[in-house]
Amino acid sequence: MTSLSKTFFIKTYGCASNLADSGFVKQILINNGFKETEKKVANYILINTCTVKGPTVNKIKDYIWEIKIPKERIIILGCLPSDKKTIEEFENYSIVNSYNIDSILNVILDIEKNQKPVHLLEPKFLDKTVFSYDTKNIAIVQPLIGCLGQCTFCKTKLAKPLYQSYPLDKIIKRIDYYIKKGVKEIWISSEDNAAYGKDIGLTYIDLLLAIEKQFKGKAMFRFGMSNPWLIKTNLNELILFFKKTKAFYRFLHIPIQSASSEVLKNMARPYNEKQLAKIFLELRKNFSFQELTIATDSIVGFPLESKEDFNKTVEFSKNHDILINNVSQFWAMDFTKAKKMKQLPSEIKKERSAILSNIVRLDAKRLLKTYVGKDIEIYFDDVDKEGNYLGRTKNYISVIFKKPKIKPILGIWRNHKIKDIAGFHLLV
Ligand code: SF4
Repeated sequence: MTSLSKTFFIKTYGCASNLADSGFVKQILINNGFKETEKKVANYILINTCTVKGPTVNKIKDYIWEIKIPKERIIILGCLPSDKKTIEEFENYSIVNSYNIDSILNVILDIEKNQKPVHLLEPKFLDKTVFSYDTKNIAIVQPLIGCLGQCTFCKTKLAKPLYQSYPLDKIIKRIDYYIKKGVKEIWISSEDNAAYGKDIGLTYIDLLLAIEKQFKGKAMFRFGMSNPWLIKTNLNELILFFKKTKAFYRFLHIPIQSASSEVLKNMARPYNEKQLAKIFLELRKNFSFQELTIATDSIVGFPLESKEDFNKTVEFSKNHDILINNVSQFWAMDFTKAKKMKQLPSEIKKERSAILSNIVRLDAKRLLKTYVGKDIEIYFDDVDKEGNYLGRTKNYISVIFKKPKIKPILGIWRNHKIKDIAGFHLLV
């Protein structure tokens, strides 16, 4: 391979798992003599794709179609090529799904040799704990791949059908590696952290306890998305854990998607509105908003969602001091069961999304304002390109210290006064 062909550019869409996968791919290529460059001069352009939202899918397709280098050198990674139709649409491009990213070097060698696209699409178990990627202050560790859900709207499940938890010792080893490199914040992320261990006789609490025991005081951890029906099986232990933890931010991301039993049934999410309320009430009985941040995701305008169903989701969001609610208008994805259901008119979906998004914004403002003027502990763990210091409160609220004259030390807790808020951030 000539040195000319050893340059690449990678663009990532979607979740923390995709970010981690892109990091792994980058590291494999850099370790093998490749150089990351700007898109316009790269010999290989890799796009790590996401299919969670319809508009994002269209944006990604437009992005791919506008690239001017030979199609086989454009390598599509991630969830987009999860059905026959999309694979046919992109048959002249190279395609590598998330189970085959460890073969990225061979894929490129193959393209160089044959000047033809390569498709690697077979699902296979891949040990992601053996990968590392170059990172400064924040790292992502995936404790499992896949999920135990069968949600009728979900295209990710079609792209990532396998479920497998990694052994605790391997996860601990990977975290240890990052901590020795000086990483200050680690995200424990997957499609559903609460599904951890079901296949190896463990629970997500075992995962939390093992990390706490080993790494307390060495870095701060964020426990990522955890679905309600599995989080509830160990809820009391989770509450006890959060009361004591020194290693984890007091933060939970529990995607409700809807707070109506009818809609949840149509989504094939195995919980109802009563069970959902019980989880959130129990959490709020034990932790105020300033002690625990709860983030969620809501889909509005799902097929057959009535006004009453929608109002239940609105009331739910308002009543549990939820700081972050990622609101999505329902978008029927090809080859999903939800696509075959009777769809709501797009004006209704749009209107409901605007109503809920506005409520979420106002609620966040109300909650964040309670910090202004207070002296609180903040953990700065990153600096952006402009020299602003980025930190977190104990409950993982984002804090920005704009170009400070006296720079805070990264990786330690210190008290700072909150002066204002901006969007979803606190300002020091
Ligand atoms: S839990 Fe449901 S929405 Fe989440 S990845 Fe699995 S099938 Fe998709």
